[in-house]
Amino acid sequence: MEKRTLMTKLDGYQPFWFYEKDDFKGRVTKFYTGNSSDDMKLEKEMPIPDDSIICDYCDDAITEFPVPVFHGHALCPKCYKQVIT
Ligand SMILES: [Zn+2]
Repeated sequence: MEKRTLMTKLDGYQPFWFYEKDDFKGRVTKFYTGNSSDDMKLEKEMPIPDDSIICDYCDDAITEFPVPVFHGHALCPKCYKQVIT
C-alpha cells in the first residue's frame, strides 16, 4: 500500500493510504464482551471475505483499485471525490 498526503475539504492536508486488492486479505471482525476496558474479553473473531470490500461511508461495493483509505475507512470513488479537493 502507498501513502499519500492529500488536500481534503474537511481539515486541510490529511494522510491517505491506497490499498491494492491483496492488502484487504486476512481481515477479521472482532467481537468483545465486557462493560469497561478492564473486563473486555475477545469472544469471537469472524473472517471477512477477501473480496468483500465496502465503502465505509455509503456501503457501496468497491471494485476499483487501489482503494483510498482515510483514517482506517475505505472510500468508494464517489465518496473519495467528495472528500478531496
Ligand atoms: Zn462511498
